[in-house]
Amino acid sequence: MTSRVPLIAGNWKMNLDHFQAIALIQKLSWTLDDAKHDYEKAEVAVFPPFTDLRTAQTLIESEKFKIGLGAQDVSRHSSGAFTGEVSGAFLSKLNVKYVLIGHSERRQYHSETDEILNAKVSAAWQNGLIPIICVGETLEELELQGQAAVPIAQALAALSGHETLGEFVIAYEPVWAIGTGKVATPAEAEAVAKALRAAITQEFGQESGNSRILYGGSVKANNVAGFLASGEVDGVLVGGASLDADEFAGIARFQKHIVL
Ligand code: PEP
Repeated sequence: MTSRVPLIAGNWKMNLDHFQAIALIQKLSWTLDDAKHDYEKAEVAVFPPFTDLRTAQTLIESEKFKIGLGAQDVSRHSSGAFTGEVSGAFLSKLNVKYVLIGHSERRQYHSETDEILNAKVSAAWQNGLIPIICVGETLEELELQGQAAVPIAQALAALSGHETLGEFVIAYEPVWAIGTGKVATPAEAEAVAKALRAAITQEFGQESGNSRILYGGSVKANNVAGFLASGEVDGVLVGGASLDADEFAGIARFQKHIVL
């Protein structure tokens, strides 16, 4: 298990064609390189569409600042007659390090259940990938059950039943805050991260409890510092704002804005 180095992860979703993807990776690499070690205390990773992973890998490898590579999904199967699916084995050959599992858009539009997501976590570990398990409550669930109950239940469901746990990251993303401009407060994100850590530690032990917990939902360069100031939240998962190199690099420079 690694230490809790802050992770700044950019989920491009189904945005940017091949040429736009190349332009963004290049601009991001130059911007991060230019920062002269401003970012050294954080890990930065991008999650392009599958069709751009190979190109992103090549571009990233030739740059000084090592941006990490992630995929937006993984098949729970390793190979075979599963048309349209992408195996974790294929991803790891492209030096993909992380894979998003259970993003709310996959839960909602692709009917991904806790059972499917649990199998995807296994598939990630079998192929040496680090799952970023996305959890979060809808507005209705927030009103009925409070803020932490659904994220905890989803995290435990994704992690339970494995013989041993590999490295993982949890991304707390309130569904009502994704792409809406509505943001959880830093105090809310801190409280949910604390509750998630306590539940994971109780269920799976101290080492798992030391896993990184990110916040996601309308994060921008001008609000990121608040989430990371308490030390409970170990990074951010960024959607819309990761499509702009300057904005995303601004998020990665969060240390500059933290006043302790
Ligand atoms: C996301 O899709 O994971 C996300 C957090 O999106 P946004 O930053 O646009 O709210």
